[in-house]
Amino acid sequence: MHRFAAALAGFCLAAGTAVVVAAGPATAAPACAVGYRVNQWQTGFTAEITVTNGATALASWALTWHYAGNQSVTSAWNATVRQSGTAVTAESLPYNAALPAGGTVSFGLQGTYSGTNTEPADFALNGVACGDTAPPSTTPTTPTTTTTAPPPAGCTDATFCDDFEQQTGSAPGGRWSVGAANCQGTGTVTVDTAVAHSGTRSVKVAGGGGYCNHAFFGTSVPGSGVLYGRFWVRHTTALPAGHVTFMALRDTADGGRDLRAGGQNRALQWNRESDDATLPAQSPAGVAQSVPLPTGAWSCFEFAIDGAAGQLRTWLGSAEVPGLVVDGVPTPDVDQQWLGRAWHPAVTDLRLGWESYGTDADTLWFDDVALGSARIGC
Ligand code: CA
Repeated sequence: MHRFAAALAGFCLAAGTAVVVAAGPATAAPACAVGYRVNQWQTGFTAEITVTNGATALASWALTWHYAGNQSVTSAWNATVRQSGTAVTAESLPYNAALPAGGTVSFGLQGTYSGTNTEPADFALNGVACGDTAPPSTTPTTPTTTTTAPPPAGCTDATFCDDFEQQTGSAPGGRWSVGAANCQGTGTVTVDTAVAHSGTRSVKVAGGGGYCNHAFFGTSVPGSGVLYGRFWVRHTTALPAGHVTFMALRDTADGGRDLRAGGQNRALQWNRESDDATLPAQSPAGVAQSVPLPTGAWSCFEFAIDGAAGQLRTWLGSAEVPGLVVDGVPTPDVDQQWLGRAWHPAVTDLRLGWESYGTDADTLWFDDVALGSARIGC
């Protein structure tokens, strides 16, 4: 997990500056208010935490608290969360660091516990306790909800695993954000209750033909080591001859361009946005070493990205796809083109959805998305 130095937001008045007191009620504004919404099962829980800032704008933020029991945070999203004993610190990330006066920010975490999962009560924002003053009346109080749903199957060692069963809105929320980079058209991302691999919910992507009809939902990924990913995907229209993408990962070692997985010539392929290299090479012999993505059925897609070694592996239905392997040794028709330059990816997010560079539309469902530092399996 990345560590960020907690840059305490300090604002100093220069000597001689007049202090202006705002007109209004003389009551002290609360430093912060915190909503802590829990979903828990027998041994684990997730918490969605919403922080409402007080009257002082913050350039970055750190929320601290203590757990009363043996709660242990195992992963987090939209914040860097560290734990030492019972003390927990959640620090902002660059994209959500600025917190204006009265502004709100949300992040989440997953953890384990035994016994009683007592909610923390001593939240402090940048070192100032939140609990001393009542929250502003405009702050909605979120009741604690308790469920008995078990953790998603096959996720024991995953950094995170999402079966989307906790999603209650029309679009995926929590760790997920929905977007269409650069331009937006008809592509949509919705939580679907008609088709699911597990339970009763999945995420449906209706992607249109043409680049601007793309649509993705994404989350940040663990920051270092070999990244293993696993998700179940079901789609409607066979992979076309044209180039399409259903997964994109931002590669900060490649100028922030995407490492993409999708299809071309009716078979699965990887593609680098930066130089349009493909894996396998799109020769007939290369394409023959990949496989189509079945339609109308759930498929288990797995990948491993080893940035340090510059290697990549891919499995479909638990079987490794030979044409979708970068093993560091250039193989004609497979990874020779890919290895034409040094490649050590450092991916920072995972986006699932649809992007077409031609006119190819598709409707896809994704479910049971997991990331980890070891292979997760199907
Ligand atoms: Ca599900």
